[in-house]
Amino acid sequence: MLTWVDVDVSALQDNLRALSAGLPDGALVAPAVKGNAYGHGLVVAARAFAAAGADKLCINALYEARTLRDAGVQLPLYLVGHVATEDLAQALELGCELVVFNGETLDAIEALAPDVPAQLHVKVETGNNRQGLGPDAARLLAERIVGSPRAVLAGVASHYANVEDTTDHGYAKDQLRRFLAFCDDLGQRGIDAGLRHMSNSAASILWPEHCLDMVRIGISAYGMWPSRETLVAALLGGRKDLELRPALTWKCRVVQVKEVPAGEFIGYGCSYRTTHRTRLAILPVGYYDGYDRGLSNVAHVLIDGHRAPVRGRVCMNITMVDVTDVPSARLDSHVTLLGADGDEAITAEQFASWAGSINYEIVARINDRIPRVARQG
Ligand SMILES: *Cc1c(COP(=O)(O)O)cnc(C)c1O
Repeated sequence: MLTWVDVDVSALQDNLRALSAGLPDGALVAPAVKGNAYGHGLVVAARAFAAAGADKLCINALYEARTLRDAGVQLPLYLVGHVATEDLAQALELGCELVVFNGETLDAIEALAPDVPAQLHVKVETGNNRQGLGPDAARLLAERIVGSPRAVLAGVASHYANVEDTTDHGYAKDQLRRFLAFCDDLGQRGIDAGLRHMSNSAASILWPEHCLDMVRIGISAYGMWPSRETLVAALLGGRKDLELRPALTWKCRVVQVKEVPAGEFIGYGCSYRTTHRTRLAILPVGYYDGYDRGLSNVAHVLIDGHRAPVRGRVCMNITMVDVTDVPSARLDSHVTLLGADGDEAITAEQFASWAGSINYEIVARINDRIPRVARQG
């Protein structure tokens, strides 16, 4: 292997247990494994979470359900994305609970007449304005589901727009109020809403008392904080105890080491010129792999616990680093692109700030073709 991702299974499990321990008794925990489990490997992460007591897994798309079932993962799956009409039969056969926000989806399910009633969650819009129906339309859809022999109202869901991007949670609290009002209205009409769920990582950490019946946690289960603002709010709000441990280390091997004289240009665009005789190591990863081009001339990697700066532009499949001060670097040396090596670490947050992004995107975009290797501890 020239490049691979090590996944610390115990870290995933400890994170899930730590997050669950902060929730009220009885709340279900549904880690999100979409985006190739935030880059950690769909099957590796799903198995880890299943063994650590997850109640369900949140997925985004049908192929994820197929992959998980083929791998023998039997947990209930809650599919948070849209399923095309022609794929509904398969999604139900694979045992997916579906989120619905179009009457047409229910029409199509009724026409299919599934063997077992479809478990549906109605998505209500409370202020994020992406998927979801306004409260009136959502109630009508919920009533249709309750009256349908082909479907069961398994839950009602909403999604926060503005928890992790701020320490002012007024907008999020308004969304929560709207969601609770919607649930109350269903109750007053004698409708059992099933599982009420709205909390992502940030809300689960900051307001465990408002997690309702289930939490959908992604980034935090992988050991990363949703944002600096969430960390600050948690510290101020008395969650100093919560420890999250990143589980992912992205590695590669050096494929060449060479000496480059002073005054030479390195890479496309001649964006870097050596100021001294330089030992240069060539790495077999580039932006195709998820090593963002924004890291050009900015990032460093770790070799034997030492920093080696990126020189020149990141290419599609190749990156060059300066190992003048890492004399041990040689052909096949292990390189840490993201994660810890000795006392040094490159966090997803550091990586994201170099690339002008966020930790979520950085880990999710590590190319799926790169092997994920499950490791204990
Ligand atoms: C991805 C996702 C989550 C998890 O969000 P985090 O911020 O990673 O915890 C929760 N709910 C839905 C609908 C999602 O798509």
